[in-house]
Amino acid sequence: MPLIAAYHRPTSLDVAMDLLQAPNRIVLAGGTVVNADRAPSDLEVVDLQSLGLDTIEHDGDRVRIGAMATLAAGGDADAVPAWMRTIARAEAPSTLRSLATIGGTVAAGSGESLLLAALLVADARVELAGAEQRGLAELLATGVPEGAVITAVTIDPGGTAAEAHTARTPADAPIVAAVARTSNGTTALALTGVADTPVLVDPLDPSAGLTPPADFRGTAEYRLELARILGARAVEAIR
Ligand SMILES: Cc1cc2nc3c(=O)[nH]c(=O)nc-3n(C[C@H](O)[C@H](O)[C@H](O)COP(=O)(O)OP(=O)(O)OC[C@H]3O[C@@H](n4cnc5c(N)ncnc54)[C@H](O)[C@@H]3O)c2cc1C
Repeated sequence: MPLIAAYHRPTSLDVAMDLLQAPNRIVLAGGTVVNADRAPSDLEVVDLQSLGLDTIEHDGDRVRIGAMATLAAGGDADAVPAWMRTIARAEAPSTLRSLATIGGTVAAGSGESLLLAALLVADARVELAGAEQRGLAELLATGVPEGAVITAVTIDPGGTAAEAHTARTPADAPIVAAVARTSNGTTALALTGVADTPVLVDPLDPSAGLTPPADFRGTAEYRLELARILGARAVEAIR
């Protein structure tokens, strides 16, 4: 836990939004990122756990996943398509999955998150308090607007999806992963490990326009080659 100056647990979204107007206050969701920081700080956290934002339910032809639903809950929910439940269960070890939330995962925007890639191909839209709803791709590109709170993510649960990845070991986060989904004749493809956040790419030319990062697990050129191979493999699997 960072050495926070104060902890707030509002019981209404209005009060939470009021609290978050102060510049030194941040949202606390599952805390797996926030609590990982042990540095002293003057931060105050606003815990969203008492706002009832943890439901997962059908909403017309979409599924609404509350921002405070944990990855473990998403991995178990009947309303979430089976292929996405599998990806949610693979996202992190069970100790983290039982804490980490869908809202925190979106806000953190990890470029290695397979779940974010899955949400991208499922046409995810992010509902916010304090800002207009927007597509997940836009939110990942710009970050959560100042003072706004993610309240839910909605997805299109239909279609067929497949995933392909390369990792150093089965337990490691993939170096690059591809998630493809087809619905009503349209194919979407998203990649992890090729940019700061997971990105939607052209299913016919998965590596076009990418400038991947490099680290000890792979050069930029290696990741581009993985993008081509894994992208084609995931798309082929849903044909
Ligand atoms: C050991 C370890 C391994 C990890 N492995 C992975 C991994 O494999 N893949 C991966 O993607 N991530 C990984 N993470 C990062 C982290 O677990 C995830 O990003 C997680 O889903 C964050 O969710 P949380 O609910 O714990 O967020 P928190 O830690 O509570 O918050 C994270 C950030 O998001 C903001 N935030 C949270 N909820 C909201 C909201 N509703 N509205 C606005 N802002 C919000 C917070 O203010 C904070 O800045 C790992 C972390 C650790 C410690």
